[in-house]
Amino acid sequence: MSSDFSWEHSTFVVTLTVDDDHIFPFSQIRHVLSNRRGLARIDGAVHGIALNSNYFMLLDKPMLRLEGSCHCGAVRFSVTSRTPQPYMQCYCSICRKTAGGGGYAINIMGDAASLKVRGKANISVYRARNTARGRRLSSARRYFCKKCGSALFITDPRWPQWVYPHASAIDTPLPQPAERVHIMLGAKASWVRLPDGPDEVQFLEYPDQSIEDWHRTRGLLLE
Ligand SMILES: [Zn+2]
Ligand SMILES: [Zn+2]
Repeated sequence: MSSDFSWEHSTFVVTLTVDDDHIFPFSQIRHVLSNRRGLARIDGAVHGIALNSNYFMLLDKPMLRLEGSCHCGAVRFSVTSRTPQPYMQCYCSICRKTAGGGGYAINIMGDAASLKVRGKANISVYRARNTARGRRLSSARRYFCKKCGSALFITDPRWPQWVYPHASAIDTPLPQPAERVHIMLGAKASWVRLPDGPDEVQFLEYPDQSIEDWHRTRGLLLE
């Protein structure tokens, strides 16, 4: 197939021929993409992401709607997200114990009103007690599949407009984040080696920007 698309914040229009897997090299336009963090739009919606510095993937559907599922397939969900960059890694004990085989969990953010769930009967909810705060019950609700244990998404009545899907449960290809933010490092497990470099930002506790602000200030908020 062949597609016309225009790059974000640009009048630059290029026609590309893509293969059946919707993946193609973008060496001829790499300088444009690298400035735009690898997102491409058609009619305002994001339809493509850079997989790495050599290849680009065209998405069948706009990226705004993300599809997710547990491993056994008993639960499927979808949600719209204007903030799909999986950039924030949380090393707190709850995240790494419940959803963090690598020592951390990554949550993105979606619009709670748009959340659609199939297989609700297969979901359990966990409310953690925070050992660092006198075992106070956390207000966050952690949803997981009770058949296979996959972490699905989190809600919190303090922010009822948002739902926080685990990036690990999302099936829609997500972009490689422009930068990685490592948070709650005061609770990091000793065996986890932190990556080093200019795009690896570290916080002992909470980050200095909300998920929405982080996307907005980098031109990555999807409208
Ligand atoms: Zn499952
Ligand atoms: Zn955490």
